[in-house]
Amino acid sequence: MIGETLHLNRLVKRYDETLAVDDLNLTVNAGEFVSVLGPSGSGKTSILSMVAGFERPSSGEILIGSRNVTQLAPNDRDIGMVFQKYALFPHLTVRQNIAFPLKLKKRWKERWRSRADEMLELVQLASFADRLPAQLSGGQQQRVAVARALAFEPPLMLMDEPLGALDKKLREAMQIEIKRIQQSVGATILYVTHDQEEALTMSDRVAIMKSGRVVQIGTPVELYRAPKSMFVADFVGRMNFLEGDRLFTKEGGQQIRLSENTVLTMLADCGIQTDSSGEEERVTIALRPELIGIEARKERKPNRIPGVVEHSIFMGPHNVLIVRLSLPGRPAVEAQIPHFSSVEPFESGQEVDVIIEPTTLTCFSASERCAA
Ligand code: ADP
Ligand code: MG
Repeated sequence: MIGETLHLNRLVKRYDETLAVDDLNLTVNAGEFVSVLGPSGSGKTSILSMVAGFERPSSGEILIGSRNVTQLAPNDRDIGMVFQKYALFPHLTVRQNIAFPLKLKKRWKERWRSRADEMLELVQLASFADRLPAQLSGGQQQRVAVARALAFEPPLMLMDEPLGALDKKLREAMQIEIKRIQQSVGATILYVTHDQEEALTMSDRVAIMKSGRVVQIGTPVELYRAPKSMFVADFVGRMNFLEGDRLFTKEGGQQIRLSENTVLTMLADCGIQTDSSGEEERVTIALRPELIGIEARKERKPNRIPGVVEHSIFMGPHNVLIVRLSLPGRPAVEAQIPHFSSVEPFESGQEVDVIIEPTTLTCFSASERCAA
């Protein structure tokens, strides 16, 4: 089975006053896993509901392969779905639920029973085959829903927060399972989540939504390393933000001044537009916790900001340090420090330097990305 391409062309969804989806263009390539990631209310479920056929678009088109399905009923679209509200059939057993779509497909009709059992094994519910959905936990019901949607190897799968109710261990196991099945059948998946870690680990590309629009789409690495706005920088991974004034030195370099005598130097070739050259400008710099260095306090130097450790939190593979900067009115920064047996751990109250290498900061001006 080969997945089909999904094209969304200028898709709009209005509910009375609310513009839930605002002129959306999105292509999911055949066999690609694309996640839609965004805060609650940003329009994620509305997109999936339109692709599924549960909601009519206010305008725009939906194509699966070369078929324009915009006006088709849900059953005629040949889509596998796991939706928050697309419940199991309460009067059918677990096995019958999984078998239901199989019995409707020519390809599976003859061997629905063995296929349903295969899927039950996959989601580790073989011993629950004869139970009714009401006799399962919420998490078990979700696994049945995933199994039912994947069973007939649909060319397009829609999943709306399918793992939301599962505990961490099972959720991670199911993430790997969904990915494995998707890759083995080559299915196209449009996946909705508000969990950025889930989106980053599972997806070929991630579309970040804000107020009905895609604000950035890219591979997980692109989004993590090169966010184009503060919204994306903040939403994907953990990030520290610090405001400062950007200055241009006589030598053609750049600096961010955080206070009278605290200055960060930046790389000269960081892609800043030349038309702002010479102008001092208020900017926000963004720093990943794992790219910040912490050392015991030394003499003052550029790119070292003095601070005091407020908290040191053991996280297993690393420690998280919350460091109060010795700058008036600044938020504390979060740094992630890996464990090395040779280094004494930092303790709360300890005086340290926060070290910010010029290559590690991203700078935003009026929410536009201005440097890498
Ligand atoms: P998400 O899935 O990202 O949380 P939704 O697509 O569910 O977002 O909702 C997007 C916006 O549309 C929200 O403001 C929500 O209140 C509104 N909305 C969603 N469904 C309906 C509906 N059936 N009627 C009216 N407004 C709706
Ligand atoms: Mg939703």
